[in-house]
Amino acid sequence: MKLGILSICAVIVSATAAAQPSPTPKPTPPPVTVIRAGALVDGTSNAVRRDQAIRIEGNRIVSVQPWSAGAASAGATVVDLSGSTVLPGMIDAHTHILLDPKYDNYDMNILKESTAFRAARAAGLAGRFLDQGFTTIRDVETEGAGYADVGVKQAIDLGYIAGPRMFVCTRAISSTGGYALDGYSPDHDLPTGAQLIDGPVEARKAAREQLANGADWIKVYMNHRSWVDAKGNLVSQPTLTSDELAAIIEEAHGQGKKVACHAYNGVGMRRALDGKCDSIEHGLDLTDQDVAQMVKQGTWLCPTMMPYFYEWAPEGTAAGAKDRKRAEVHGPSMQRAVKAGVKIAFGTDAGSFSWDEPLVREFVLMVEAGMTPMAAIQSATSKAAEMLDMTGQLGVVAPGAYADVVAVRGDPLADVKALGNVVFVMKDGKVYRKSAS
Ligand SMILES: [Zn+2]
Repeated sequence: MKLGILSICAVIVSATAAAQPSPTPKPTPPPVTVIRAGALVDGTSNAVRRDQAIRIEGNRIVSVQPWSAGAASAGATVVDLSGSTVLPGMIDAHTHILLDPKYDNYDMNILKESTAFRAARAAGLAGRFLDQGFTTIRDVETEGAGYADVGVKQAIDLGYIAGPRMFVCTRAISSTGGYALDGYSPDHDLPTGAQLIDGPVEARKAAREQLANGADWIKVYMNHRSWVDAKGNLVSQPTLTSDELAAIIEEAHGQGKKVACHAYNGVGMRRALDGKCDSIEHGLDLTDQDVAQMVKQGTWLCPTMMPYFYEWAPEGTAAGAKDRKRAEVHGPSMQRAVKAGVKIAFGTDAGSFSWDEPLVREFVLMVEAGMTPMAAIQSATSKAAEMLDMTGQLGVVAPGAYADVVAVRGDPLADVKALGNVVFVMKDGKVYRKSAS
């Protein structure tokens, strides 16, 4: 062994001695792509620009200017999207990539599927976001799959699998009795979807663990079960107390990270807003007071309408009444938020419904709830990027931004459903999808 190392060293020494000094090699220039955009919706401006040239060097956009014959400089690859609407790569700010309702039962994901299987499945599902024009996701809890989201993100970043940029929340935090699995015999010691804590000391410890293990955000549950009371109102069980939430927020903010709060209404919503959560997830039943406080504090709303408007439990059952009530209040709640000017980030809750559901349906529901198509697009581009502290880097087609660019057939401002007709997807300067435009 020792001799082997010595002889290798001798070879290296003699090779070095024999080498002639050579000039420093010139770095290879990054590949240049010029996209010709028929219409450009750049993610921040309300104006649509026609016939633009987007120049990309490596993984960055370097210029955006009116198309001219000289825009396609020698050596550049030209992508002709002159018949399409070009937009920034979109951001889905509420996903669960480790979850699949394939068994039609959330509990089976946790009880019957190994974390290895779930991570492998997530690797297979990741490309679906790219296919639909989503180049970034904020994945808000693995639902019992530990830190598998950190691993999936790493595999994407290293190029082993194709998928969106990921901002991950890891395990999420709730309290005893405040998260699934529910309703089993108390004789069994069962796994849980989120990390359950009691008291500010455990809350702080959970936040520290999750941040240490790769959480980009912390996700907390401020509500768990909900039901319709005798007066016909939606009531939601509060979970974390104010002091538990305060400990988590202090830890996250101390490390420059944000806290996403799952909250529907009532006591849990009040604690979330008074505790200064960075984003309210779902916000099914926001009051005028809640909305005013969100505007004042700059709290984000990620409304995730898709899971609440489809697939209700049968009518005449308690679950069916709850499902219908949640949808009934969500629309007006969203309208109050839009009217008051609450900052809205697009999120679908993908993973809580079938992966075959097209994500464009969330845009349709947002527009039905009173957003303009342009505002809905910006919620999935520059606004979501702002929430992720990535302003100017993601969610915009402008010099200096990452080259995350998509194109759709048709005019999404005339009919937002056109966002589902994706014909081109580039992430980080690499083309993932190109079909006839
Ligand atoms: Zn969710």
